[in-house]
Amino acid sequence: MILVETGFMSLLEEFLDERESGKPYQRCSMSRLRDHLSEADRQDLDAALADDRFTGAAIARRLNKVLGDNAYGIKGNTVQRHRNGVCSCPR
Ligand SMILES: [Zn+2]
Repeated sequence: MILVETGFMSLLEEFLDERESGKPYQRCSMSRLRDHLSEADRQDLDAALADDRFTGAAIARRLNKVLGDNAYGIKGNTVQRHRNGVCSCPR
């Protein structure tokens, strides 16, 4: 479906990120899904994020597979925003 490929989904996703906004600060879904990972998986995720051989889309696919609903339906562009430090996470 064309809307999905033209950025509508990322807008919707940003809206969903906004909706989660709150206390004491707003973290993006990439940060929130980390809460559902084991320590070992968190380390693997950090290693993957630091390695540009893994695309955001590949990481998102993996997270959705491993975490199911707890991945918040994360998309590659959300992974990339977090990776590049332009997400909603406090900094
Ligand atoms: Zn983030």
